[in-house]
Amino acid sequence: MRHLIAGLALSTSALALAGCVDARSAQEAAQAEPTAADAAAFLDRVETTYSEVGEEAARISWVKATNITYDTNWLEARMAAELTEMAVEFANEAARFDGLDLPEDQKRKLALLKQGITLPAPTTAGAAEELAQITTRLDSTYSTGTIDFRGDTVPQNRTEVLMRELRDPAALETVWTEWRKVSKPMKDDYVRMVEIANAGAEELGYDDLGQMWRSGYDMDPDEFAAEVDRLWGQVKPLYEQLHCTVRSSLNEAYGDEIAPLDQPIRADILGNMWAQSWAALYGDIVRPANPDAAPVDIQALLERAEATPLDMVRTAEGFFTSLGFEPLPETFYERSQITKPEGREVVCHASAWNLDSKDDVRIKMCTEVNADDFVTVHHELGHNFYQRAYNIQPTLFQSGANDGFHEAIGDMIALSITPEYLVQIGLLEQDEVPAAEGDIDLLMQQALSKVAFLPFGLLVDKWRWEVFSGELSPEEYNSGWWDLREEYQGIRPPAERPADAFDPGAKYHVPGNTPYMRYFLAHILQFQFYKAACDQIGWEGPLHRCSFYNSKEVGERLDAMLEAGQSQPWPDTLELFTGSRELDASAVLDYFEPLMRHLEDENEGRSCGW
Ligand SMILES: [Zn+2]
Repeated sequence: MRHLIAGLALSTSALALAGCVDARSAQEAAQAEPTAADAAAFLDRVETTYSEVGEEAARISWVKATNITYDTNWLEARMAAELTEMAVEFANEAARFDGLDLPEDQKRKLALLKQGITLPAPTTAGAAEELAQITTRLDSTYSTGTIDFRGDTVPQNRTEVLMRELRDPAALETVWTEWRKVSKPMKDDYVRMVEIANAGAEELGYDDLGQMWRSGYDMDPDEFAAEVDRLWGQVKPLYEQLHCTVRSSLNEAYGDEIAPLDQPIRADILGNMWAQSWAALYGDIVRPANPDAAPVDIQALLERAEATPLDMVRTAEGFFTSLGFEPLPETFYERSQITKPEGREVVCHASAWNLDSKDDVRIKMCTEVNADDFVTVHHELGHNFYQRAYNIQPTLFQSGANDGFHEAIGDMIALSITPEYLVQIGLLEQDEVPAAEGDIDLLMQQALSKVAFLPFGLLVDKWRWEVFSGELSPEEYNSGWWDLREEYQGIRPPAERPADAFDPGAKYHVPGNTPYMRYFLAHILQFQFYKAACDQIGWEGPLHRCSFYNSKEVGERLDAMLEAGQSQPWPDTLELFTGSRELDASAVLDYFEPLMRHLEDENEGRSCGW
């Protein structure tokens, strides 16, 4: 969740003038019946336009993200509006070629153009403008939202810290509830936005916007919905065991009043504003199983080696070159923002970029020497190596095989930061490799973040699909949200929610209109990729101890998957690396197998579930 997909710039890039010219030529072309030659010419024009203006858009965004001023904000906002308008025009134009007999690659490009828009506006006069105003308002309501807490005005990013650090249930309830007052006024805008975007999706030939989002996965949209349910079914038993143990730990810390053992868990005591990661509970609430066999302390190792942020980046690059990938270009080091610069405001949220869709790859981080950032650097470079690998593809194919793949590549690499790997890169001595007993705590830390996330990752878009299809009426938006939160996550609000609340809006990706299923997929795929790599090197030990560092064989197959970009249906690309055409969550179970056994022991005699 830490990067800007370079394809974003590509799939939505435009110059103001180019936009006007294209709009006119589209109307003229619409007069006559389109031919296969028209389709080819149209695609040529789209790809030329995108490769030219995509670079400008990316450079504007880079300048803004690394130097936030009134003017750079202005430039980026103007560019974003132009990009959206152009993408909508291209999508509508692409729909004109439906039903023509065209070569596969052209058909795929036209489909990508139609599906590439998150929020389509209908061609009705004024609709695109109204949609843009609503989305800008939703976005700024969220990002400028503050709460009153203990006499202070607290901005959004600080509320997250409070949710992580506070241990007083009354205070937690206040912060949690106050933040949901910020989203309440979004409701009317959101309802209207759904109407407009649904009309836009219908014009493009979809039943509703949810079906349009689901159609981006190279399979029937209903089949895709069944696929994610199947994956959830695979991991649910593990989630239920984790839920049971954590509820029990919360009960010990807070008692029956706050954390009763026979109910869903109160959403505000899990250490996160949305209960999507429970990692903050590790230590004082979820206590180490083996306090004497502590997992490797990466920060201490980095400090011992006197590593700098630059050293951390070089180390992560070394992981990829050990697999046989070319080193990063010198411009990467000249142009990246590796640490927080002095004297100007920047976006510190880590991201990976490809500015020219060729070799101008960079990261933008405010790296500090700690374990989280060590993992993040590996993760971000995963994006960069992916971007560079698919730069051989035509512009419209320069993206992840599907939107889950891009996040999963970086995380697969990060999973490979094992004690053995740390020995290989000289941060840890062989006789310091911890005994296997300590692994339960390592796995618990991983599960509190990666397993706890799964039902949340699934339900955000399940809710939106119900909203877009009309299955939930606006009056039911909030109750429908909580039905899913209880069913999948096993959590409940700290107190009954007011009828006019709009709690989904309290999560950035809802007012920000970022599809969310990609994160669920990435949390499954990263383990599937990781296991495939470990199978390729013939690893026979516990899966979580495997590192495929130095394996040229893995590198070759990985490169084949990355190079393909989104040029073909993702099952074909998945097969290149894993040998399988199916998404499969069984690697999650393999990875956490020792923890699962431990949790089942711990939970014996407890009444699990909700
Ligand atoms: Zn990422």
